[in-house]
Amino acid sequence: MSVALFTLGGTIAMAGAVGADAGTVVARLNGAQLIAAVPGLADLGVALDVQDVQAVPSGNLTFTQVLDVVAAASRAVAAGAAGVVVAQGTDTLEETAYLVDLVWPHPEPFVLTGAMRNPTLAGPDGPANLLAAARVAAAESACGLGALVVFGDEIHAARRVRKTHSTSTATFRSPDTGPLGVVVEGRVRILATPPAHKPLPIPEPVALTSARVALYSVTLDDDGALLADFPTDQRGLVVAGFGVGHVPAALAPVLGELAARIPVVLTSRTGAGSVLRHTYGAIGSETDLQRRGLLNAGLLDPYKARVLLRLLIASGADRGALAAAFAEHG
Ligand code: ASP
Repeated sequence: MSVALFTLGGTIAMAGAVGADAGTVVARLNGAQLIAAVPGLADLGVALDVQDVQAVPSGNLTFTQVLDVVAAASRAVAAGAAGVVVAQGTDTLEETAYLVDLVWPHPEPFVLTGAMRNPTLAGPDGPANLLAAARVAAAESACGLGALVVFGDEIHAARRVRKTHSTSTATFRSPDTGPLGVVVEGRVRILATPPAHKPLPIPEPVALTSARVALYSVTLDDDGALLADFPTDQRGLVVAGFGVGHVPAALAPVLGELAARIPVVLTSRTGAGSVLRHTYGAIGSETDLQRRGLLNAGLLDPYKARVLLRLLIASGADRGALAAAFAEHG
């Protein structure tokens, strides 16, 4: 049995820098070096077929690069791989995992992992995460669950997981559901199954480049001046509102005018829970904003809503298709 391993850099692949940056770490370990540092991997009975894509901090990744990995991973499963592992930086992992989840068309598990403690530190978590990720990618019980994030022996649905802490090795959490499963004594235990969804089409790179989508977080005493001069090259906007999806009254007409021009999606800045649909009635409340044309992102956090909106815009989705997609995924 084999699993395809794609490496993209990140803390899991970092090693000491030389020259002017000596004393810091930079992403430069390749897949063979990562695998060599994992005790127990050789006894797993799973051959890891390594493809080193690049070695960068994950803040440098692009939608197109991630979708290229999805295409390569599709070829790998067509050629017989039981599953896929991507090792990358954790900073953008919740976004890349959700992007993969939206388009991955195969039942074979697509697992993303990384590390919070780099290999030069005492107790790096990369080797254990890679081992657990390989186990999940090879597990029949993990088939059909969409993209998964495996970290700290927990298995999270890409569509629910968040990076919740800047340094903790327990940073990945699924605040609305908890993990889908765990790896215990090397055994993959799936405890819950997310609903299946139809994969979205993968847009052309050129369409993605022009599908710019901004994210705006609402704050106390926000007068919306920044939004009044909203750049015309942005084709969509995600608003991270207060609580259940509220903004100051002064911002409501500004967002309504924008929503007449481009898709504007309403999310919550709280980090967990859903935007409401029909509870509050004041100006700037969720009912008011929906009446002004904003789309409700439901349970999607602002970062995931932005991934979905950008993918849909790049695929040429019209207003009706956007509304249907947010109703389905939100
Ligand atoms: N800055 C790193 C990255 O995302 C952090 C990590 O890997 O955890 O590439």
